[in-house]
Amino acid sequence: MIDMQDTDTSFRDRPINIDERGSRKWVYAKKPKGKWYTRRTIFSWFVLLFFLVVPFIRVNGNPFILLDISSRNFILFGAIFWAQDTFILALLMLSFILFIILFTVTYGRLWCGWACPQTIFLEMVFRKIEYLVEGDFRKRLKLDKGPWTFEKIWKKLLKHSIFILISLMMTNTFLMWFIGSEKWLILIAEPISENFSGFVVMLIVSGFFYWVYSYFREQICTMVCPYGRMQGVLLDSKSIVVSYDYKRGEPRGAKTKGDCIDCGQCIFVCPIGIDIRNGTQLECINCTACIDQCNTVMKRTAKDPGLIRFDSDTGIKEGHKTIWNSRNRAYTVVLILLFSFFIYTLLSRPVIETTILRTPGLLYQENTDNIISNLYNIKIVNKTHDYLPLEIRLISHEGEIIMAGSKMEIEDQAMFESTFILFIDREVLESDNTDVEFGIYSKDELIETYKTNFVGP
Ligand code: SF4
Ligand code: SF4
Repeated sequence: MIDMQDTDTSFRDRPINIDERGSRKWVYAKKPKGKWYTRRTIFSWFVLLFFLVVPFIRVNGNPFILLDISSRNFILFGAIFWAQDTFILALLMLSFILFIILFTVTYGRLWCGWACPQTIFLEMVFRKIEYLVEGDFRKRLKLDKGPWTFEKIWKKLLKHSIFILISLMMTNTFLMWFIGSEKWLILIAEPISENFSGFVVMLIVSGFFYWVYSYFREQICTMVCPYGRMQGVLLDSKSIVVSYDYKRGEPRGAKTKGDCIDCGQCIFVCPIGIDIRNGTQLECINCTACIDQCNTVMKRTAKDPGLIRFDSDTGIKEGHKTIWNSRNRAYTVVLILLFSFFIYTLLSRPVIETTILRTPGLLYQENTDNIISNLYNIKIVNKTHDYLPLEIRLISHEGEIIMAGSKMEIEDQAMFESTFILFIDREVLESDNTDVEFGIYSKDELIETYKTNFVGP
């Protein structure tokens, strides 16, 4: 609930939670209830569980996801990304950005209302604690406007203490995503004096989370988040968003022909405080709270549900029975293809990275029996979590390879560097610069090929 005196058309000029002097208007959102809220709550449990559990999941002894920026060690879904994988990472990032754009054009801000950590923590954790301690919107408004009684003091103390605790937990869990749970366990076992700067950073980040969820709140979505700010260019009349069916609802009022009885319940329940009947707005995070609330009102007034529903502007204007049209079907196919490409690229990354270059400054050597030889430098990076015994073979021609030094083998995530000589019969060579291809084998299985050249007379 928000002071609506001057909001009838002010939504066109400024965010709904800002008054004409630029001051903040506090939103007292009514506790949502209904089918969509239940679905969202269940979904958020999975997201929260994922957030909390991921740092402890291990794949072959390594983290499932690790974003260790300081050591440039990135692990995504168990796959390690090295500095040499920048190209794959860039490709994945580009396909991810394309995915987000197409997804938003088609399905609007589904991400914001359902999966964004900001919404999940605010609506499903902090707001629920607030409902529990201070009660629903009218009670909270009365409490805030009222004098500092014993009840107000203990309620505020309890709520903010829980908020601070959760903020600390959030920071520590985020920390594990970046440094791994083992390092985190070592860090917290050590005395604070040994990691004092890290401890101060942890307190600052926790303080930031506490400030966001206890005070700044929905302003992250309306004023800070770049994704939110981009909605104006990403959405169009065919995007599926939370929409008010103005054809059915208007003219609004208790005794009018339209189905909207103008009860204002959809505004009371909105965590941003907007009126969805004004049309699609930048602030709407598609949380579906107004759908649930309006459906309850429709039920009470014996009208069909869906006055507020997921639909596109075109769908409502033209009275479509389904939200599906040829464009969102085609985009959905593209999204599935993009997602498949994303997964395929992740899974099909070569397990090793090989570089074979002729030793600089040397041409070729002529040996007895008409045999020509070239000297090569070889570098192999093991991207797996396993020890790899390796073998190199020439697969394009007949030839012999003699490695310098010991056996070819690499420990997990290590690098192998050596030199070898390749001998090829002069008769086999096609020119003074022949393309040759090597195969890298592990336990007789070809795991990578590498093309380079062989110089001869
Ligand atoms: S909840 Fe439904 S009936 Fe009530 S004001 Fe909103 S749209 Fe109209
Ligand atoms: S208008 Fe409806 S869907 Fe949009 S933020 Fe408000 S309650 Fe959520």
